[in-house]
Amino acid sequence: MEQTLIILKPDAVMRGIVGEIITRFERAGFKIVATKMLKPGYEHYFEHYEVIGTLKTRKGEEIFESTLASMQDGPVIAMVLEGIEAVEAVRKMVGDTQPKTALPGTIRGDYAHVTYGQASQSGKGVANIVHASADTDEATKEIKHWFKPDEIHVYSVVHEQFTQPRKK
Ligand code: ADP
Ligand code: MG
Repeated sequence: MEQTLIILKPDAVMRGIVGEIITRFERAGFKIVATKMLKPGYEHYFEHYEVIGTLKTRKGEEIFESTLASMQDGPVIAMVLEGIEAVEAVRKMVGDTQPKTALPGTIRGDYAHVTYGQASQSGKGVANIVHASADTDEATKEIKHWFKPDEIHVYSVVHEQFTQPRKK
């Protein structure tokens, strides 16, 4: 079974919509196997967004620094979700990076309405509610960076009765 990392960003926590977002993932059949609230500093986000996510390399210093500053504006809720092809499926639910182009029905499309232009003018990272690992390699590295092995739990949920092999 595949695991992916999501982070409910400071804008989601401060707007009081984390319950609604988590409900979407639970409803779709993803199992929460780890979660915690924390307020990491620059070094932690440098590892997350550049060493693992190559954001500075891909999008430049200005976007990188404003994103790191925005992530440190408040606490976040980090979570490991488990499910069938979880990485790709969760990214699809999250939607495009820029809320302006994120489709209605996606989390970023339904809950945010900012643009890259506005973010750049205000010197902020684009406030897009949630982070989700982009691919399985990123997911493996991010889960290791955010959680210790004993913080990740093993248990069963009812959804699994629909995916486990039929008993003979
Ligand atoms: P994603 O979060 O969709 O995987 P990236 O990894 O490219 O997207 O970027 C990481 C985060 O950096 C984004 O979620 C967003 O908060 C911020 N960001 C990316 N591109 C921009 C941009 N052009 N302007 C402002 N913030 C940005
Ligand atoms: Mg990314």
